Amino acid sequence: ATPMSIMVGMGEGAKAGILIRDAEALEQFEKIETLVVDKTGTLTEGHPKLVHIETAEGEDRAELLRLAASTERASEHPLADAVLAAAEEEGLELEEVSAFEAETGQGVRASLSGKNVLIGNARFMKENSIDTGALAEAAARQAEDGATVIFTALDGRALGFLAIKDPVKETAREAVDALHARGLKIVMMTGDGEGPAKAVARALGIDEVHAELLPEDKHRLVSERTAKGERVAMAGDGINDAPALAAAHVGIAMGDGSDVAMETAGVTLLHGDLLALVKAHTLSRNVMANIR
Ligand code: ADP
Ligand code: MG
Repeated sequence: ATPMSIMVGMGEGAKAGILIRDAEALEQFEKIETLVVDKTGTLTEGHPKLVHIETAEGEDRAELLRLAASTERASEHPLADAVLAAAEEEGLELEEVSAFEAETGQGVRASLSGKNVLIGNARFMKENSIDTGALAEAAARQAEDGATVIFTALDGRALGFLAIKDPVKETAREAVDALHARGLKIVMMTGDGEGPAKAVARALGIDEVHAELLPEDKHRLVSERTAKGERVAMAGDGINDAPALAAAHVGIAMGDGSDVAMETAGVTLLHGDLLALVKAHTLSRNVMANIR
């Protein structure tokens, strides 16, 4: 490879908010057959909003939101922001929590006035022996409607759930169409539930969907594809995406996401815009054509 045209390519990328780590990333990008994308924060805006609160029999709606927001105040997850914004809007007074812990891709736990609070998805509840049966029907309805459902439990009892929606990025459809036109296959891998995953996939025309994944699942699924000789790029924004980014031929980080993702990636899209990904692909093709 001619270092000069690669340098020029990197410079051009930088001007468009595309940071390319090294020649390797630029060389690999044009050979990609499959683009794996994370959903939350990559295909969607990553600024979700609370759309519905469902309480279990006899539970108080405001108290549920107050507990959830008090706990989520310690979390950096975009879902936490949605919960906090809703609590703020309702003027709720939050409590200080202790022993806060995040389970990546599942939820959070903390101690609040000596009681154990758990907030997260159905799997997280199941693993902690919380019975969400009475809420299942309402939760399924919300999920089918494209919302992410997070349950709240207090001392082993489910109080209810919050339904949260995250709009698709304005440029996502155009980017997916452009990449399809170049013959790329687009695969979604998300930690979120089947309902919201399929709703976004339908809206964008994504070819394949894998939902309810833990970070190690994303890593394994990407590694299985590369092991079979498939040329894979992976785009993601979170700490939970970092292992999968490292396993792909080209790791692409959304620049408004986690620092860990950016440190792992060969390409960083500074403005988190998916059209920049299309631009980066064009750049790679042009530079490599120049060299040949
Ligand atoms: P994605 O792969 O779509 O970026 P994540 O792996 O970040 O999603 O999260 C997967 C799921 O884990 C979320 O949809 C949610 O159910 C649960 N979760 C993660 N963090 C939190 C949190 N702070 N509060 C509640 N639920 C959470
Ligand atoms: Mg994400």
